[in-house]
Amino acid sequence: SDHALEYPASPDAMDWSPHYPAFAGTGKTPEFADVGCGFGGLLIALAPLYPDTIMLGMEIRVQVSQYVQDRIEALRATSALEAPPSETVSTPGPYQNVSIVRANAMKFFPNYFPKASLSAVFFLFPDPHFKARKHKARIISPTLLAEYAYALKPGGIVYTITDVKDLHDWMRTHLEEFPLFEPVSEEALREEGRGPILDAVYRSTEEGKKVERNKGQKWLACFRRLEVKRE
Ligand code: SAM
Repeated sequence: SDHALEYPASPDAMDWSPHYPAFAGTGKTPEFADVGCGFGGLLIALAPLYPDTIMLGMEIRVQVSQYVQDRIEALRATSALEAPPSETVSTPGPYQNVSIVRANAMKFFPNYFPKASLSAVFFLFPDPHFKARKHKARIISPTLLAEYAYALKPGGIVYTITDVKDLHDWMRTHLEEFPLFEPVSEEALREEGRGPILDAVYRSTEEGKKVERNKGQKWLACFRRLEVKRE
């Protein structure tokens, strides 16, 4: 239950330095949030591509979040061996920019992320909760969208992908109806240079790979956080 988890009372109370020791003192906070990150495939794929962007996964399952934490520690350790820190290089080593918290994102997302701090939020292959009476358990809802919109910078992107058509329609409809988001096409995002992110969204996660093995279809829907509410 949530009682076993420790949450910061507010984003100000969060000390990120144990998560990102190489960035301690820089004042940097997470800019990418992977909600329900599972085994961490997206974060691990993106970390080396955007070494100066701090990324955080949120995962509710104990063993899974522990697995991701161990995975990141191992990657940091091996990369440190492969490339010993050089005095001339000022960028932190690989995977220093990625971490995970075990957290119920549906309840505590706002405890971690201050206003307008995120440039990307990912909902990749979220649990579908098929039955209508379970829809309130879905990770996208009008209430939760208000929290995601608050934490996103204007211009920031929400990425959603799923192999469940009904869930795709649900996420897309709620995002379309929310006045602080506008749909943005895959082509537009690629033109803006976000192709590597989209490729990782499609293919890097464990669930995405499973869907691929089963030759399932993937539905992508992306949205941009607006500066002001649209009419
Ligand atoms: N995004 C990953 C991927 O594409 O491989 C994982 C997809 S998996 C189907 C959904 C994940 O969301 C599970 O690992 C689950 O434990 C996690 N999850 C479900 N509800 C959550 C919540 N309220 N807070 C954080 N994580 C949650």
